Amino acid sequence: MADGRGMTGVHPDARSRLPAVDTVLGWPAIAALVSTHGRPLIVEAIREALAARRLVNEPAPAQALVDDVEARVLAVVAPSQRKVINLTGTVLHTNLGRAPLPMAAIDAMVAVASGASNLEYNLDTGKRGDRDDHVQVWLRRLTGAEAATVVNNNAAAVLLTLNSLARHRQVIVSRGELIEIGGAFRLPDIMARAGCKLYEVGTTNRTHLHDYTEAIGPRTGLVLKAHTSNYRIEGFTAHADERALGKLAGEHGVPFVVDLGAGTVVDLSRFGLPREPTPAGTLASGADLVTFSGDKLLGGPQAGIIAGRADLVARIKRNPMKRAMRCDKVTLAALEAVLRLYGDPDRLLEHVPTLRLLARPALEIRALAERLRPFVAQWLGGEQTHVEVVSVASQIGSGSLPVNLLPSFALRISPPGHVASGRALKRIAGRFRALPTPVIGRVSDGAFLLDLRCLEDEAGFRALFQRSCAP
Ligand SMILES: *Cc1c(COP(=O)(O)O)cnc(C)c1O
Repeated sequence: MADGRGMTGVHPDARSRLPAVDTVLGWPAIAALVSTHGRPLIVEAIREALAARRLVNEPAPAQALVDDVEARVLAVVAPSQRKVINLTGTVLHTNLGRAPLPMAAIDAMVAVASGASNLEYNLDTGKRGDRDDHVQVWLRRLTGAEAATVVNNNAAAVLLTLNSLARHRQVIVSRGELIEIGGAFRLPDIMARAGCKLYEVGTTNRTHLHDYTEAIGPRTGLVLKAHTSNYRIEGFTAHADERALGKLAGEHGVPFVVDLGAGTVVDLSRFGLPREPTPAGTLASGADLVTFSGDKLLGGPQAGIIAGRADLVARIKRNPMKRAMRCDKVTLAALEAVLRLYGDPDRLLEHVPTLRLLARPALEIRALAERLRPFVAQWLGGEQTHVEVVSVASQIGSGSLPVNLLPSFALRISPPGHVASGRALKRIAGRFRALPTPVIGRVSDGAFLLDLRCLEDEAGFRALFQRSCAP
């Protein structure tokens, strides 16, 4: 029925005048689309376009049909994952892909992506190599660890560590650290899936060394400390000293593991940011192993890093689950390049976008906001919608230092009317999402906010508003 002929309808209607698919395929404009997108997608688009016309009983002027076919095929071939502009104010936004990668990492990914690499091949000996070796050198240097291994993300790092070192045994952890990191990462669940028995000690706000001392025994497999990265317990609190925990675990011959979560390898206070524990500091103060993410404060690709004692890392690497969680050559190339940047701490802000965005001075953001305000206001259509520059607080995100907000500036867009309706705000948010490069902001306090901390390409942003006229 693709040609629309032989319909049993009573009217000698437009349907009978619809061209056949093969006829349409012969049109030059359609042939050009075929050479760009391939025949199957175009045939499918023609069928759909004809079917749509048949439905409404409409004739099909050739140009309208060509336009329709093109629009349909473009909708199909458009990449699903696209670049967006993150103006949410959350720098490491998990839903928006977390850390923007340094140029050096992108170059390194490209260099190995298109062909063969020495991923597991030792160029000195001509024998089989180890993919972890490419990053281990740098991880040892930056964390002081004896050895290190890398998996797909930090959730995997924790799961693999627990499963390798404490399967069928008890893992002692403070009740104040039984965290959920959003999504499906809840420490008690990971523990169960790793085949470990959770042994909770202490209370939500206070856990003492003696709580661990009383719990530890022959059935203990591991002592775990998790960095409570996405919330903070304040007030009447207590936690056991890491050095003492390391000593206690050592006396019982079990590993002491610290899940750092964000894991920065430099002291962030040098950039005016709040201090976070580092892998080097945590290992030096008695942890046998640390785990941390590659795409949080490190500012690299999604990865989970396990670093510490060589014998423990070796046990972890022997676990068949490691094979199921290993990173590919592209991730490892990016991670190696990022770690190398940390070899030159003085130029980190220049090279690592995550750190640069986090450390960006508020006054610079304010000046940017003031320069951009007229463009956005004009695009929104003047009078009715109010656009002003306001001071806001950005967040680091990804469960890092939630309590420490970074002073920043935003464009505050409020729709007409005294009290902005939710619908009006949604409509504004939708217009920004519909831009050629979608702009993602946040709704707060009856307005739509664009926090400009993460906007570095000012010219590109302006062009977006000049090209896209208001409807
Ligand atoms: C973020 C986080 C994780 C999970 O790390 P991913 O890299 O997102 O898998 C685990 N533990 C802590 C403490 C975290 O902050």
